[in-house]
Amino acid sequence: KEGVYLEVQTTLYDKNDHLIFIRDVTRLHLLEEMRKDFVANASHELKTPLTVIKGYLETLEMFQDSLPASMQKGIANMSEQSERMEHLIEDLLLLSRLESNDKREEEHWHEVSSWAEAIKKIASPLLTDAHSLDIDIPEKARLYGSYNELYSAFSNLVVNAIKYSPDGGEIKVKWESNEFSGVFSVADQGLGIDPRYIPRLTERFFRVDKGRSTKTGGTGLGLAIVKHVLMHHDAKLQILSELNRGSRFSCHFPANRVRTDDIPTFPAID
Ligand code: ADP
Repeated sequence: KEGVYLEVQTTLYDKNDHLIFIRDVTRLHLLEEMRKDFVANASHELKTPLTVIKGYLETLEMFQDSLPASMQKGIANMSEQSERMEHLIEDLLLLSRLESNDKREEEHWHEVSSWAEAIKKIASPLLTDAHSLDIDIPEKARLYGSYNELYSAFSNLVVNAIKYSPDGGEIKVKWESNEFSGVFSVADQGLGIDPRYIPRLTERFFRVDKGRSTKTGGTGLGLAIVKHVLMHHDAKLQILSELNRGSRFSCHFPANRVRTDDIPTFPAID
């Protein structure tokens, strides 16, 4: 029947016999579709009122010198919170787009170094004198994928590395490749993560320490975005971390998406 989703599982029963389990997951599938639609629509609908609020806040900011100090503080608070809300809505919309396969962006070959400039731009306002940012990406390295999606993933990892290194330290952004894979990695010398939380980090809104993350202004969706982007690029995320020593987030891309030579890369991947 059309529109029926079945989950099939087989297990070895004894030497020659197999057991086959067939489960009707149509209802689960429909509920998941409803959840995705709801999040996409709600985020979209929240955008318009927020734009109006931000517009009025900007006008108020222009006249704030003539307002009492308590009101100035209130306006600054409202601006900060509306910025946070805007980031949250943008991240929710991006996740919704990533979850619906038909809205994917086109894939092309890109020089891995083309992400470096964009990363520097987003990182520089966050870096303090105690941080150093070291980007090591060979010129000829190329990666096949969607530029904007990969930009979202890579920049989330770099921003996290800085955010969760409050005392500074070195942030190392690196590209390494061999005949089997290409690896984009971001390493920091920051707070690190308790190993028992690592498997949950890519869940939506999962945060190791809510207080710490609220202060750093994250949305709790960054690593969920990274996971979805990598899934679309047949890549895997590896997280190595040691509490109070630092973390390394590595994105492993398969060989057919990676080039390190001057061989023309058109048409598309093998
Ligand atoms: P957030 O917006 O809270 O940063 P993310 O999905 O990007 O959300 O990350 C989820 C959680 O993983 C963070 O709240 C933080 O606790 C932890 N985390 C992510 N990156 C790092 C890092 N480089 N060092 C330490 N903890 C990290």
